[in-house]
Amino acid sequence: MTQPLRHLVLILGDQLDELASALQDFDPQRDAIWMAEVAEESTHVWSAKQRTTVFLSAMRHFADHLRACGYPVFYSRLDDADNTGTLAGEIARTLRQVTPCALVMTAPGDWRVLQSLRSVARDHQLPLDVRDDTHFFSTVRDFARHAEGRKQLRLEFFYRELRQRTGILMDEGKPVGGQWNFDAENRGSFGRQGPVAVPPPTRFAPDTITQEVIALVNVRFATHPGSVASFGWPVTRPQALQVLQEFIAQRLPQFGQYQDAMWEGEVWLYHSHVSCALNLKLLNPREVVAAAEAAYRDGSAPLEAVEGFIRQILGWREFVRGIYWTQMPDYLQRNAMAAHAPLPDFYWTGDTEMACLRDAITQTLQHGYAHHIQRLMVTGLYALLTGVSPQQLHEWYLAVYVDAVEWVELPNTLGMSQYADGGVMASKPYIASGKYIDRMSNHCKGCRFDPALDAGPDACPFTAHYWAYLRRHEAVLAKNPRMGMQLKNLQRRLV
Ligand SMILES: Cc1cc2nc3c(=O)[nH]c(=O)nc-3n(C[C@H](O)[C@H](O)[C@H](O)COP(=O)(O)OP(=O)(O)OC[C@H]3O[C@@H](n4cnc5c(N)ncnc54)[C@H](O)[C@@H]3O)c2cc1C
Ligand code: SF4
Repeated sequence: MTQPLRHLVLILGDQLDELASALQDFDPQRDAIWMAEVAEESTHVWSAKQRTTVFLSAMRHFADHLRACGYPVFYSRLDDADNTGTLAGEIARTLRQVTPCALVMTAPGDWRVLQSLRSVARDHQLPLDVRDDTHFFSTVRDFARHAEGRKQLRLEFFYRELRQRTGILMDEGKPVGGQWNFDAENRGSFGRQGPVAVPPPTRFAPDTITQEVIALVNVRFATHPGSVASFGWPVTRPQALQVLQEFIAQRLPQFGQYQDAMWEGEVWLYHSHVSCALNLKLLNPREVVAAAEAAYRDGSAPLEAVEGFIRQILGWREFVRGIYWTQMPDYLQRNAMAAHAPLPDFYWTGDTEMACLRDAITQTLQHGYAHHIQRLMVTGLYALLTGVSPQQLHEWYLAVYVDAVEWVELPNTLGMSQYADGGVMASKPYIASGKYIDRMSNHCKGCRFDPALDAGPDACPFTAHYWAYLRRHEAVLAKNPRMGMQLKNLQRRLV
């Protein structure tokens, strides 16, 4: 005999929020929660050990918290003897124990997962109630309305709309400080002396649950990329709040100025390291943005740093989600620049003579983290210039970062970094020569290549490929007015 239920509420690994819409009307007498660790989520891309560990540990902590609050939870562990390895299989296993009138869930982040759960519900002839994800400031419908009738989508306009609607960093209907954007002040490098006295990052020694997960991951996914030796990510809400508070107090004032800067061996710099906690929904973007705005209002952080930080969350994070959900599923296959080269093997090892790539990839495999400019202007740029398949690169980014979930990773990789969507996400390809990396870091000082050279044995591969890329795509890029200066420089070289 199976037990009757009103709702079986499905909670996925990136929905660890007690205030989620799926739990709004939860009644512990009539409803139950379902959560499952499944191998499929670590193998559909070759998920790195750090990434799998953060998901499984945060899920186990969240399930324990729910149980302690009196919620009935059906929880499948990866090491359960009869775990089927798929979300569909684990729901079927639970449905042999309970008979709900409906399945309820908050809208998942990934298109693939939504399709799979819809088909599970159909197969079991159960209604599936998919509720809006209220974690975000905007809905996908808001974004679709914004996009309607526009020839081009640009972050700046969507961001301004959200600033106006929410009143964030606004005074009497006007942007605080009289301008929307402080990008020009946010492009500093460290200068010769390098970063001085950067506060140490907020990291956590693995507790018993995390240690168990680490042991499991090291056995089950022994051949997967990276190492968990240094694992220190927040896996509970109190830990995530601590990361946020220490960022606001210690790093935010310098965040803007050094947002784009890199330095050999310096992993954490002045970034917030909250993307993983945000994407697992341990943190709400409203509290993150409110904490940053409060720091400006009470005089503890300058406006350019605060606006630069809020733009990433209220702007880019909402914008990429809108792009993802309005462009999928075709988006996944886009390849506007016809790039088909395989991903170089060294992306999985860091074993390359190019110092900038070696540093970015090594820290990625060690910690599951690299900051935005390392992703965009080092690993992303090299792949773009050398014509790597955007689909292969997408699988790499989705595998190696602790914050990687498809709705945010895919538009960043395929759109912003590779221009493979032909300009939906970015107004032009983000291309530069090795001189950009030289300006923003000290990597070139210790590299066997010379960023100023584009030919010969010491030529920097970035610089050589930069000119080759412009030549290869000149006809297409010439239609883009924002490429005028770079193409003029190319012409000068040819005469
Ligand atoms: C090729 C590529 C792939 C990326 N993949 C991911 C991914 O899988 N998951 C992910 O969360 N971010 C991704 N990003 C965006 C960005 O690099 C990370 O959010 C950021 O580096 C995370 O570190 P942090 O928390 O210290 O961020 P900070 O630099 O402190 O920024 C603050 C927050 O702003 C948000 N943010 C910043 N930039 C972006 C952006 N471009 N898009 C969306 N949100 C943004 C993040 O939530 C981040 O935590 C990617 C960027 C590129 C270029
Ligand atoms: S010289 Fe070129 S390859 Fe070497 S660190 Fe600089 S940009 Fe990277």
